[in-house]
Amino acid sequence: RALSPDASSLVGATAPDVPTESAEELIARRDAVVARVQEHYFAHPPRIERGWRHHLLDTSGMAYLDMVNNVAVVGHSHPRVTAAASRQLGLLNTNSRFSYDGMVTYAERIVELLPEPLDTVFFVNSGSEAVDLALRIVRSVTGRKDTICLAGGYHGWSTATDEISTTLNDNPHSRGTRPPWVHLAPMPNLFRGEHRGADAADRYADAVRSIVAQIPGGPAAFVAEPLSGNAGGVEIPPGYLPQVYESVRAAGGLVVSDEVQVGYGRTGGDFWGFQMHGVVPDVVTMAKAAGNGHPIGFVVTRREIAEQFSSQGSFFSSVGGSPVSSAVGVAVLDVLRDEGLQENAARIGAHLSTRLEALRERHSLIGCIHGRGLYQGVELVRDPETLEPATEEATAICERLRELGVIEHATGDYSNVLKVKPPLCITRDSADFFVDRLDEVLSAGW
Ligand code: PMP
Repeated sequence: RALSPDASSLVGATAPDVPTESAEELIARRDAVVARVQEHYFAHPPRIERGWRHHLLDTSGMAYLDMVNNVAVVGHSHPRVTAAASRQLGLLNTNSRFSYDGMVTYAERIVELLPEPLDTVFFVNSGSEAVDLALRIVRSVTGRKDTICLAGGYHGWSTATDEISTTLNDNPHSRGTRPPWVHLAPMPNLFRGEHRGADAADRYADAVRSIVAQIPGGPAAFVAEPLSGNAGGVEIPPGYLPQVYESVRAAGGLVVSDEVQVGYGRTGGDFWGFQMHGVVPDVVTMAKAAGNGHPIGFVVTRREIAEQFSSQGSFFSSVGGSPVSSAVGVAVLDVLRDEGLQENAARIGAHLSTRLEALRERHSLIGCIHGRGLYQGVELVRDPETLEPATEEATAICERLRELGVIEHATGDYSNVLKVKPPLCITRDSADFFVDRLDEVLSAGW
């Protein structure tokens, strides 16, 4: 089997205590104790024992190129992140109520990366918590509850974020019982949506304007990703967000940019996703990459909003912004900067776009290459006219890619969009390895 080129140093590096039970036995154990709602990627999952850069190694010594892990932004088990975590764990690992050193440094580093006036940080532990807190902030500050979000977006599993999420959650809201304070605007998807022409951004913005006009008392907020990850890496057309932000603000509402997946340079251009649209939100939410796997989430807003919120009640997270989270968070930012990973995402992302577009021209199953940077999606369709989603094909292709040494997974409303979201340290050789394996699998005929 061809090996992902950068993974050769992993070969033979297996741990001494390789489990002897079969994958089936492990799955039986899993199903006895792990809730079914947990997302499982593969019918026969590899037993991953260690991570290294953009690779994973299973207990049999097989190395996989990880094309889906947007949490491990600087690469799996980065030694500098590990060192920062171990050092801090050995010194002081909790006490955020009165020991602030690490938290202050971390907050300063975050604020330095954001445009004015976003200057005040709240620390939590996950993306769901971050968006949940953002909802609480905008609703408390505006004294309103109505929230506009995009159909096909995802913002978390908590009670409040679940209400504004559609993909992934096969929840009661997805089945049509969304609460009356949640308003779904159409996803501005230029491949599959209602408007696809040159005026699409304006038409989709019109849809938000008409929702805003219909909310008695006005909306509390508009919440969206600036490039929609779980919809399949769907790019929001230029010109859309400036119009939406303006109409929501004109009605007295606030805007939240959910950067949980897209932030930290993943789009191959700016550090934050909203920057590519030339807008500045009132509230930013971040998690995932912030901790490179360690549970870290945060919300940033401007001082006056933070103070108004704090004056109306307390907020406290027992472990948010803990000394270990802060040390890890700073180490991740250091590595991103020192290893030039934002620039790497731009370079490799552009290379991947070119190669994937060339693949699209040769394989009719590929309907569209979504996204940019290291945040792309390969949408599979059975028919280029009807755009019938190739969902079963996508599942089978992921299984086949796994056999060839690539971890892949499909997302989107129809689970037919292959994710292209590797750690930002991926090399050109590994990117080529992915495209070549995908080419090989697609060439087998579907
Ligand atoms: N917002 C977005 C855009 C996400 O993609 C996710 C996770 N997929 C979340 C929020 C929730 O984050 P978490 O899983 O850390 O709770």
